[in-house]
Amino acid sequence: MARKASTAKQDLAPELNFIGGRWVPAGGGETFPSRSPADTRKVVGTFPRSSAADVKAAVAAAQQGFAKWRLVPAPQRGWMLAACAKVLRERKEELSNLMSREMGKPLVEARGDVQEAIDCADYYAGEGRRWFGETTHSELPDKFAMSIRCPIGVCGMIAPWNFPVAIPAWKIFPAILCGNAVVFKPAEDSPACGAAFVKALEDAGVPEGVVNLVQGFGEECGVALVAHPDVRVISFTGSSETGSQIATACGKTLKRCSLEMGGKNAQIVLEDADLDLALEGALWGAFGTAGQRCTATSRLILHKKIRKEFVKRLIKAAGQLKIGDPLDEKNHYGPLVNEQQLKRVQRYVEIGRKDDGAKLVLGGKRIMAKGLEHGYFFEPTIFDEVKPNMRIAQEEIFGPVTAAIEVKSFEEAVEVLNGVPYGLSSAVYTRDVNRAFRAIRDLQAGITYVNGPTIGAEVHLPFGGVKNTGNGHREAGKQVLDIFSEWKSVYVDYSGRLQKAQIDVSG
Ligand code: NAD
Repeated sequence: MARKASTAKQDLAPELNFIGGRWVPAGGGETFPSRSPADTRKVVGTFPRSSAADVKAAVAAAQQGFAKWRLVPAPQRGWMLAACAKVLRERKEELSNLMSREMGKPLVEARGDVQEAIDCADYYAGEGRRWFGETTHSELPDKFAMSIRCPIGVCGMIAPWNFPVAIPAWKIFPAILCGNAVVFKPAEDSPACGAAFVKALEDAGVPEGVVNLVQGFGEECGVALVAHPDVRVISFTGSSETGSQIATACGKTLKRCSLEMGGKNAQIVLEDADLDLALEGALWGAFGTAGQRCTATSRLILHKKIRKEFVKRLIKAAGQLKIGDPLDEKNHYGPLVNEQQLKRVQRYVEIGRKDDGAKLVLGGKRIMAKGLEHGYFFEPTIFDEVKPNMRIAQEEIFGPVTAAIEVKSFEEAVEVLNGVPYGLSSAVYTRDVNRAFRAIRDLQAGITYVNGPTIGAEVHLPFGGVKNTGNGHREAGKQVLDIFSEWKSVYVDYSGRLQKAQIDVSG
């Protein structure tokens, strides 16, 4: 039995790179382990620590894959995505289980992560039949004019660990639908999920060279992927610090680069809100995935008439959350992803208490209860009486920590929500339709929810943020196709003579 289980794991997530349709070790033979954050004694797998040479091989394979794939008609590329959706659906449970073990997200959320990838494959499968351009009249007679979308070439995909299947799917499915080939580098904290995702695509029949996988560290193979002259697009999701370095490197080689980065999302609760609903939203938004979502609710902007009551109820509800093994479905959230993340959260709790002088009203400590002492578990943590300019209200913490800020009016709530360097997600709870629409107009964020929490994006709408969260692109929806395709304008002259635009005719 044991042997069978290990073969199944091997099949699901091969501990190798995937280059040109073959599973291969890193050229240098070095490896790194992926450990479970719920119990770091458990090794989920050992993966190749790739170098620039491995990236070079993967890019060369992708170029060969691209040469054939770009000629496959878009509807047929769509069929391939439908096949990917089918395999992912069949493996949903195994993939979710692997995800919970590898990066600590609770099983129920891991299933949502895989479902998002399935939704994404289904959605872009349909887009294969909507590979539309435009036709229009030329200003000259007997001349036809149109614009068409073209694939670009090799795309480098650099992903974080917090949505280790959904985010790669968001990038890879639209990229290959557009006729590109990709080199995918998963985060070093979720290599098994990355491998299992690519294995599903291989088993669905994605042709060799179209999707290539290189495992390893950002400063080694990530940097090499960004610098490679034959990579024409970089699609990155991760921290703003890394994104800024990548944008600089892409600028040097004039690469297109799409960046999805950090957030400091807020939920506004006005005095007329349904407080039960707002409370549920805050709990889910602030503590789901242990607060390690780019759209997590790390600020609660509360009208002064309800702040005390709301914080009191939130403390009670958050205090009852169950934290532990992410595979145990009774638990609300699991561990932080790694030691670095744990230290970061601990540092911000200290900053909140000492430097900022905010009032810590719940949590603030690592959980060392029996059975959890080998993992990176952290208490649900709430700060009250936070001022908008405090560091815990300005900087991304990425943990189960939220900051309650009191405001006197709707206008002040909007000002506070907008007063951070990020702009990913925002939420407003109110029963007043006029204020809801003003919030939609005035909140500086890529996403606004009315009477819903800051998390819950769907694949057919554009996803991304303003200010330091992004660089103007959007993933998901049909908007992402603009990242992965070039427009070409085509003029067909059937007059049989030389015709000169702007010269033969004028308005
Ligand atoms: P990170 O920036 O440390 O790493 C992200 C990826 O970049 C990893 O694969 C890493 O190996 C790679 N990388 C690191 N340095 C690199 C370099 N110099 N060149 C090329 N690649 C490099 O981020 P993380 O800690 O994995 O993820 C957490 C961050 O991601 C948070 O800030 C979060 O807000 C953000 N995030 C944003 C979104 C979004 O859509 N806006 C979604 C999820 C996560």
